[in-house]
Order: sequence, then C-alpha cells, then structure tokens
Amino acid sequence: MTQQHKSRRSFVKNLSLGIGSTAILPVLSSFQDLNEKIGRTDRKKLNIALCGLGRYATLLARSFVDTEYCNLAGIITGTPSKAVDWKRRYAIPDANIYDYGNFDTLKDNPDIDLVYVVLPNGMHKEFTLRAAAAGKHVIVEKPMAFTEKDCEEMITACQKAGVQLAVGYRLHYEPNHLEIKRLGQRKVFGQVRLIEVSLGYSIDDIDPNDWHLKKNLSGGGPLMNLGVYCVQASRYVLGEEPIAVTAQFGPVTKPELYTEVEESITWQLYFASGAMATSTSTNSSGVDRFFASAEKGFFELSPAVSYGPFRGRSSHGEFDFPVINQQAAQMDGIAKVILAGKQLPEHISGIEGKKDMKILEAIYTAAETGKKIFLS
Ligand code: NAD
Repeated sequence: MTQQHKSRRSFVKNLSLGIGSTAILPVLSSFQDLNEKIGRTDRKKLNIALCGLGRYATLLARSFVDTEYCNLAGIITGTPSKAVDWKRRYAIPDANIYDYGNFDTLKDNPDIDLVYVVLPNGMHKEFTLRAAAAGKHVIVEKPMAFTEKDCEEMITACQKAGVQLAVGYRLHYEPNHLEIKRLGQRKVFGQVRLIEVSLGYSIDDIDPNDWHLKKNLSGGGPLMNLGVYCVQASRYVLGEEPIAVTAQFGPVTKPELYTEVEESITWQLYFASGAMATSTSTNSSGVDRFFASAEKGFFELSPAVSYGPFRGRSSHGEFDFPVINQQAAQMDGIAKVILAGKQLPEHISGIEGKKDMKILEAIYTAAETGKKIFLS
C-alpha cells in the first residue's frame, strides 16, 4: 500500500470521527465516483512527461511513487547529463526523452498523455502552447504566466487543441486547506472580516545569476514566486474575488541581488463582503502563516503554505488532519479527472491561474503607482 493510500485511509478515518467532515465529503464522494469508474476497474495511469528537471521537478519525480494514477513516462531537458541520470533513476525509455529542440515531435508519441511544465516562469507560456500543439494535456507550474492576457492565450490554445490545462496548485488537495476553505466559505464562524496570509523565505545565498532574480524569466520577485499562494488562499477562503487592491514595495536590503525584481512586497485585497486580506511576500525565512478572523471566531494555519506539515486550529480547537504528499495528491487528483474523460474543475484549471494573474498584475500596478487599483 502506498503512503498516499495510507494517508487517504486515515483521512477517511478522521472523517468518520467527524473532523472536518462537512468540508471534505463532497470532494471525497466525487473521488469515490471516479474510483468506481476507473480506479477499481481499470488501472490505467496517466503518462506524464516532466519538462524542466530542476529542483521542483526532482521533488515531483520522487512523488510519483505515492500516486495511484500517474506514471513518470518521459522527460524533456536541455541538459544531456540529466537525461542520462533520470533515464537510469526512473527507467525512462529512450523514446520518451526529449530536449527543447525536438519537443514538438511529442505529437507523434502516444505514450505521453500530459506534459508537466516545471520551467522558469517566463517559459511557461511557450511550452504550454507547444504542448497543446502536440496534442498533450498540460499542467503548468505557478505562476501560470506573466499576464492575464498570456493566460488567456494559453487557455484558448488548449481549448482549440482539445486538451486540458491545469495549474500546479498543490494546496487544492491538502486537507487543512480544504478545511479553511470550508470554514470561510460556509461562514462557520460568520463572515470572515480579516485574512492575514504571508509567505517568505531567505534566498540570500542565491546565485546572483539565478533566474528568480531575472525579470524576463521570473516576471517578478517574491510576489510571483510565493505571493500567488497568498492570493489563492485569500480567494478560496472567502469564495469571492477582490474588487480593489493596494500594495507597497518593501525596503531593498540586498541591492546587489535585487536589481530587476522586488525583494519584498506587501498588499491588501478588498472584497465586496467587507473582508480584507493583507499579505507580505519577502526574502526572509520562516514567514509561513495564515490567519482568518471572522464575526464569531478565528481559524489559522502555521506553517500554512509551504510543503508542510501544517498545523491548524480554530476557535473550536486543534485541527487533526493527516500529513499527505501534496504533490502526489495534486497529480492524482488531476489524473483521475482526465482519465475519466471529464473536465477539470475550474479551481484547478487555467481559468484559476488567469484570475490570480489579474490580481498579481494589479498588485504590481498598485505598488508602482501608489494608487488603489479597482478590479472589474
Ligand atoms: P529550478 O531553477 O530548480 O529549475 C528550472 C529548470 O529549468 C532547470 O532544470 C533548468 O535547467 C531549466 N531551464 C531551462 N531553460 C532555462 C533557462 N533559460 N534558465 C534557467 N533554467 C532553465 O527552478 P524550480 O524551483 O524547479 O522552479 C521551476 C518552476 O516550478 C517555477 O515556475 C516555480 O515557480 C515552480 N515551483 C512550484 C512549486 C510549488 O510548490 N508548486 C515549488 C517550487 C517551484
């Protein structure tokens, strides 16, 4: 039995004890439907090719062992030595090893169903478009692209090609996050008035040539890299879109590194319900916290947005959810839907990435102009 399977079993056990049951039941029952359709009767797996074999792709590759519906079938890399190493490590057939030059010949390979784009942000759009043109489903890492317009192009290209487009939002399958979504959206403690959610880690020892510091490859600093999670959590806990944004850049303490992108940024999202969400994404370690204050109580996670394990509590007491492999849960969740021939739910699709990108663009505009930016 895989770790993922064990986690799911203990998750179900927790549900039967009534912990977070209202939040999870709809999700679980749709999993059960899909299990009946595919998982129990047809062991077919989704054949995934990872594109870009850096740090996160390495973590994803290690997570396949915890999936039930995903197979690491291929790789796309510009580094020949990585191709040799990954072929040996993950038993990748030669026919499923590509570089960025021959990527487009994926269209002739029926053994790859989906390309998972794990490249620097500035390459997400190009490789999503190329994967769609090759007739492959796509998972693209966050942030989806640089602009709302780019996201729109990616969505349209996938629609035209008849393939599905998902964004690598791993927290949409994480039980603590499903719980805060339930508590917020169902107003268990009344209307949420204030959310404070921030994420930061120190990259002081970063190679000055690292793509995260280059605007053409990153699109920006910690807002693009980490802030997108904070915007996500604010939106899915409230279940509504912000109507306005204000933002401020923080001080630059490492001018030698931060010549092209911000070192830190703080922003405020304003919602029609009267709720406000405030966040900071910064080059400082140990910033990983979510707190929501509602009319009749609070709920919080800390750690909250990283790879966990998360700890959570509310006015009703401590959370007690299983620790899961977030990457495996995300890939399995997407694979099950695609294998069942169903449409991905909007919250994990390119449409969700586009909504986030609109807000990230507004945050940068607000920080640059000092003005409150209204979103239509
Ligand atoms: P990384 O630098 O470790 O890996 C990037 C890969 O892209 C490397 O293999 C590199 O060789 C390749 N590459 C190809 N062309 C390149 C170029 N011109 N410049 C630099 N690298 C190039 O980065 P990473 O941390 O693996 O991030 C990759 C993507 O994954 C990013 O979009 C990032 O936001 C995302 N990510 C997501 C999560 C998550 O939790 N969902 C976590 C980390 C990273």
